[in-house]
Amino acid sequence: AGHPNLPSSMAVHSHIERVLWTHDQISARVSDLASQISIAFHGASSPPVLVGVATGAFIFLADLVRHINIPIAVDFVRVESYGFGTHSNGAPTISSDLKVDVKNKHVILVEDIVDTGNTLSCLIAHMEVKGASSVSVCTFLDKPTRRQVNFQLVGEGKFYSGFQCPDYFVVGYGMDFAELYRNLPYVGILKPECYQ
Ligand code: 5GP
Ligand code: MG
Ligand code: MG
Repeated sequence: AGHPNLPSSMAVHSHIERVLWTHDQISARVSDLASQISIAFHGASSPPVLVGVATGAFIFLADLVRHINIPIAVDFVRVESYGFGTHSNGAPTISSDLKVDVKNKHVILVEDIVDTGNTLSCLIAHMEVKGASSVSVCTFLDKPTRRQVNFQLVGEGKFYSGFQCPDYFVVGYGMDFAELYRNLPYVGILKPECYQ
Protein backbone atom coordinates (compact mmCIF):
# COMPACT_ATOMS: atom_id res chain seq x y z
CA ALA A 1 0.00 0.00 0.00
CA GLY A 2 0.98 3.68 -0.27
CA HIS A 3 3.01 5.39 -2.92
CA PRO A 4 5.11 2.84 -4.81
CA ASN A 5 8.29 4.92 -4.67
CA LEU A 6 8.19 6.38 -1.19
CA PRO A 7 9.36 4.57 1.90
CA SER A 8 6.37 4.60 4.27
CA SER A 9 8.63 5.08 7.28
CA MET A 10 9.71 8.57 6.13
CA ALA A 11 7.88 11.44 7.84
CA VAL A 12 6.04 13.38 5.16
CA HIS A 13 7.88 16.60 6.04
CA SER A 14 11.19 15.07 5.07
CA HIS A 15 9.91 14.90 1.45
CA ILE A 16 10.00 18.69 1.23
CA GLU A 17 13.01 20.42 -0.29
CA ARG A 18 11.95 23.95 0.59
CA VAL A 19 8.99 25.70 2.22
CA LEU A 20 7.64 28.64 0.17
CA TRP A 21 4.90 29.81 2.56
CA THR A 22 4.55 28.80 6.19
CA HIS A 23 1.29 28.09 7.97
CA ASP A 24 1.45 31.50 9.69
CA GLN A 25 2.09 33.40 6.46
CA ILE A 26 -0.81 31.55 4.83
CA SER A 27 -3.20 32.27 7.74
CA ALA A 28 -2.49 35.99 7.62
CA ARG A 29 -2.98 36.20 3.87
CA VAL A 30 -6.16 34.09 3.86
CA SER A 31 -7.85 36.23 6.49
CA ASP A 32 -6.84 39.28 4.46
CA LEU A 33 -8.55 37.85 1.36
CA ALA A 34 -11.63 37.01 3.44
CA SER A 35 -11.84 40.64 4.62
CA GLN A 36 -11.62 41.90 1.04
CA ILE A 37 -14.44 39.56 0.01
CA SER A 38 -16.56 40.46 3.04
CA ILE A 39 -16.25 44.15 2.20
CA ALA A 40 -16.78 43.74 -1.55
CA PHE A 41 -19.95 41.66 -1.18
CA HIS A 42 -21.39 43.38 1.87
CA GLY A 43 -24.91 44.46 0.93
CA ALA A 44 -24.85 42.56 -2.39
CA SER A 45 -28.21 41.75 -4.02
CA SER A 46 -27.88 38.14 -2.83
CA PRO A 47 -25.31 36.13 -0.85
CA PRO A 48 -22.39 35.14 -3.08
CA VAL A 49 -21.84 31.45 -3.84
CA LEU A 50 -18.27 30.33 -3.17
CA VAL A 51 -17.51 27.47 -5.51
CA GLY A 52 -14.53 25.40 -4.48
CA VAL A 53 -12.70 23.48 -7.18
CA ALA A 54 -12.17 20.00 -5.77
CA THR A 55 -9.98 18.59 -4.53
CA GLY A 56 -7.16 21.11 -4.34
CA ALA A 57 -9.16 24.06 -2.95
CA PHE A 58 -10.67 22.23 0.02
CA ILE A 59 -8.33 23.56 2.72
CA PHE A 60 -8.13 27.08 1.32
CA LEU A 61 -11.93 27.23 1.00
CA ALA A 62 -12.42 25.92 4.53
CA ASP A 63 -10.03 28.50 5.99
CA LEU A 64 -11.34 31.34 3.81
CA VAL A 65 -15.03 30.93 4.61
CA ARG A 66 -14.40 30.91 8.37
CA HIS A 67 -13.02 34.45 8.08
CA ILE A 68 -15.87 35.77 5.91
CA ASN A 69 -18.45 37.62 8.00
CA ILE A 70 -21.33 38.08 5.53
CA PRO A 71 -23.88 35.46 4.43
CA ILE A 72 -22.47 33.15 1.74
CA ALA A 73 -23.33 29.82 0.17
CA VAL A 74 -20.70 27.12 -0.48
CA ASP A 75 -20.62 24.50 -3.18
CA PHE A 76 -18.08 22.42 -5.11
CA VAL A 77 -17.29 21.44 -8.64
CA ARG A 78 -14.81 18.85 -9.78
CA VAL A 79 -12.71 19.38 -12.88
CA GLU A 80 -10.43 16.82 -14.43
CA SER A 81 -7.38 18.21 -16.18
CA TYR A 82 -4.42 16.80 -14.36
CA GLY A 83 -3.51 13.16 -14.48
CA PHE A 84 -0.97 11.44 -12.32
CA GLY A 85 1.75 14.01 -12.89
CA THR A 86 2.76 17.64 -12.92
CA HIS A 87 1.47 18.83 -16.31
CA SER A 88 -2.03 19.79 -17.40
CA ASN A 89 -3.46 17.98 -20.42
CA GLY A 90 -5.01 21.30 -21.45
CA ALA A 91 -8.59 20.06 -21.91
CA PRO A 92 -10.45 20.31 -18.61
CA THR A 93 -13.86 18.70 -18.23
CA ILE A 94 -16.38 19.19 -15.43
CA SER A 95 -16.87 15.78 -13.86
CA SER A 96 -19.01 16.89 -10.91
CA ASP A 97 -21.33 19.86 -11.18
CA LEU A 98 -22.92 22.35 -8.75
CA LYS A 99 -25.80 21.53 -6.47
CA VAL A 100 -26.68 25.21 -5.84
CA ASP A 101 -28.55 27.14 -8.56
CA VAL A 102 -26.31 30.11 -9.43
CA LYS A 103 -28.75 31.87 -11.78
CA ASN A 104 -28.65 35.63 -10.98
CA LYS A 105 -26.14 34.94 -8.20
CA HIS A 106 -22.63 36.22 -7.65
CA VAL A 107 -20.21 33.32 -8.03
CA ILE A 108 -16.72 33.31 -6.55
CA LEU A 109 -14.64 30.46 -7.96
CA VAL A 110 -12.18 29.32 -5.30
CA GLU A 111 -9.04 27.70 -6.70
CA ASP A 112 -5.83 26.38 -5.21
CA ILE A 113 -3.67 27.67 -8.06
CA VAL A 114 -4.12 29.24 -11.47
CA ASP A 115 -1.49 27.96 -13.86
CA THR A 116 -2.26 27.91 -17.62
CA GLY A 117 -5.74 29.32 -16.99
CA ASN A 118 -7.46 26.47 -18.86
CA THR A 119 -9.40 25.24 -15.82
CA LEU A 120 -10.64 28.69 -14.91
CA SER A 121 -11.71 29.70 -18.39
CA CYS A 122 -13.71 26.47 -18.63
CA LEU A 123 -15.36 27.12 -15.25
CA ILE A 124 -16.06 30.80 -15.90
CA ALA A 125 -17.83 29.90 -19.16
CA HIS A 126 -19.79 27.22 -17.33
CA MET A 127 -21.00 29.68 -14.64
CA GLU A 128 -21.90 32.24 -17.29
CA VAL A 129 -24.04 29.65 -19.12
CA LYS A 130 -25.79 28.93 -15.82
CA GLY A 131 -26.74 32.60 -15.63
CA ALA A 132 -24.47 33.85 -12.83
CA SER A 133 -24.80 37.64 -12.54
CA SER A 134 -21.07 37.94 -11.86
CA VAL A 135 -18.13 35.56 -11.71
CA SER A 136 -15.13 36.39 -9.54
CA VAL A 137 -12.07 34.27 -8.85
CA CYS A 138 -10.30 33.80 -5.53
CA THR A 139 -7.17 31.75 -5.99
CA PHE A 140 -4.73 30.88 -3.25
CA LEU A 141 -1.76 30.94 -5.64
CA ASP A 142 -1.22 32.44 -9.07
CA LYS A 143 1.47 31.54 -11.59
CA PRO A 144 0.99 34.41 -14.09
CA THR A 145 4.10 33.56 -16.09
CA ARG A 146 2.57 30.22 -17.11
CA ARG A 147 -0.69 31.61 -18.50
CA GLN A 148 -1.89 30.23 -21.87
CA VAL A 149 -5.48 31.46 -21.72
CA ASN A 150 -6.50 34.98 -20.75
CA PHE A 151 -9.81 34.34 -19.04
CA GLN A 152 -12.43 37.09 -18.72
CA LEU A 153 -14.35 37.57 -15.49
CA VAL A 154 -18.11 38.06 -15.77
CA GLY A 155 -20.02 41.22 -14.82
CA GLU A 156 -18.47 43.05 -11.89
CA GLY A 157 -16.32 40.01 -11.11
CA LYS A 158 -12.93 40.58 -9.46
CA PHE A 159 -9.72 38.57 -9.25
CA TYR A 160 -8.41 37.85 -5.76
CA SER A 161 -5.05 36.16 -5.36
CA GLY A 162 -3.18 35.07 -2.24
CA PHE A 163 0.40 34.82 -3.44
CA GLN A 164 2.28 34.88 -6.73
CA CYS A 165 3.92 31.50 -7.13
CA PRO A 166 7.30 31.05 -8.78
CA ASP A 167 7.42 28.50 -11.59
CA TYR A 168 7.83 25.39 -9.42
CA PHE A 169 5.45 22.50 -8.94
CA VAL A 170 4.24 23.06 -5.38
CA VAL A 171 2.44 20.83 -2.88
CA GLY A 172 0.67 21.22 0.43
CA TYR A 173 -2.26 23.26 1.79
CA GLY A 174 -4.61 21.14 -0.33
CA MET A 175 -2.33 20.72 -3.35
CA ASP A 176 -1.12 17.28 -4.32
CA PHE A 177 1.40 15.30 -6.22
CA ALA A 178 -0.24 12.00 -7.17
CA GLU A 179 -2.91 12.65 -4.49
CA LEU A 180 -0.28 12.92 -1.75
CA TYR A 181 0.88 15.91 0.33
CA ARG A 182 -2.51 17.71 0.46
CA ASN A 183 -2.36 17.49 4.26
CA LEU A 184 0.80 19.59 4.67
CA PRO A 185 -0.13 22.81 6.54
CA TYR A 186 2.39 24.83 4.46
CA VAL A 187 3.31 25.07 0.76
CA GLY A 188 6.57 23.62 -0.43
CA ILE A 189 8.56 22.08 -3.22
CA LEU A 190 9.20 18.35 -3.22
CA LYS A 191 12.63 16.78 -3.24
CA PRO A 192 13.42 15.55 -6.76
CA GLU A 193 13.44 11.91 -5.64
CA CYS A 194 9.78 12.22 -4.59
CA TYR A 195 8.68 12.84 -8.20
CA GLN A 196 10.13 9.58 -9.50
P1 5GP B 1 -4.51 25.24 -15.13
O1 5GP B 1 -5.75 24.73 -15.76
O2 5GP B 1 -4.60 26.70 -14.74
O3 5GP B 1 -3.29 24.95 -15.95
O4 5GP B 1 -4.24 24.41 -13.84
C1 5GP B 1 -5.08 24.47 -12.81
C2 5GP B 1 -4.89 23.29 -11.89
O5 5GP B 1 -3.66 22.58 -12.09
C3 5GP B 1 -4.80 23.80 -10.49
O6 5GP B 1 -6.08 24.03 -9.97
C4 5GP B 1 -4.05 22.70 -9.79
O7 5GP B 1 -4.98 21.71 -9.38
C5 5GP B 1 -3.12 22.17 -10.85
N1 5GP B 1 -1.77 22.75 -10.68
C6 5GP B 1 -1.18 23.73 -11.39
N2 5GP B 1 0.04 24.02 -10.92
C7 5GP B 1 0.23 23.22 -9.85
C8 5GP B 1 1.30 23.06 -8.90
O8 5GP B 1 2.36 23.72 -8.91
N3 5GP B 1 1.11 22.11 -7.94
C9 5GP B 1 -0.02 21.35 -7.85
N4 5GP B 1 -0.09 20.46 -6.86
N5 5GP B 1 -1.05 21.49 -8.72
C10 5GP B 1 -0.92 22.41 -9.70
MG1 MG C 1 -7.36 23.34 -8.69
MG1 MG D 1 -3.76 17.88 -8.67
